[in-house]
Amino acid sequence: MQDLIKNLILKLGEDPLREGLLNTPKRVEKSLNFLTGGYKENLSKIINNAIFESENNEMIIVKDIEFYSLCEHHMLPFYGKCHIAYIPDKKILGLSKFARIVDHYSKRFQIQERLTSLIAKSIEEILNPIGVGVIMEAKHLCMMMRGVQKQNSYATTSALRGRFKSDSRTRNEFLSLVNKCMS
Ligand code: ZN
Repeated sequence: MQDLIKNLILKLGEDPLREGLLNTPKRVEKSLNFLTGGYKENLSKIINNAIFESENNEMIIVKDIEFYSLCEHHMLPFYGKCHIAYIPDKKILGLSKFARIVDHYSKRFQIQERLTSLIAKSIEEILNPIGVGVIMEAKHLCMMMRGVQKQNSYATTSALRGRFKSDSRTRNEFLSLVNKCMS
């Protein structure tokens, strides 16, 4: 990978051998491996023993989960916040694990729409809940630094499953909780 990055620097018109760039290929390799670490992780190991029995069947919401991902079209970052809610059916998941699930799917080449639905699908598979809803708001550097150069636009995506899709009261409760969090 370091040779590829050295070549890339050269093709872009720079001198990969000048002092400031000499160790850049090594650093970029390390950084890219970290930013795409989701490919090498095992999600069931991450979730490992954090599923608990519960009689609660009220909505649980985990808001403002920070995430950083790379857009698959430009390999530039997009980043923002993820809000997850679900209504359990006898099984709940340790709260910190939601952030781990978000990281697992963020750390790879993604588009925001797919990322959002992968998180919802994954929670559905792990907990088999009565319903799950995921909302993601993100800024895309490929829009901000190039292309249309719009600095202040957010892209918002959502994935709604089970009761979040079929019951408008559940959906509205979720949306109003998220909006309260966002303002
Ligand atoms: Zn892009």
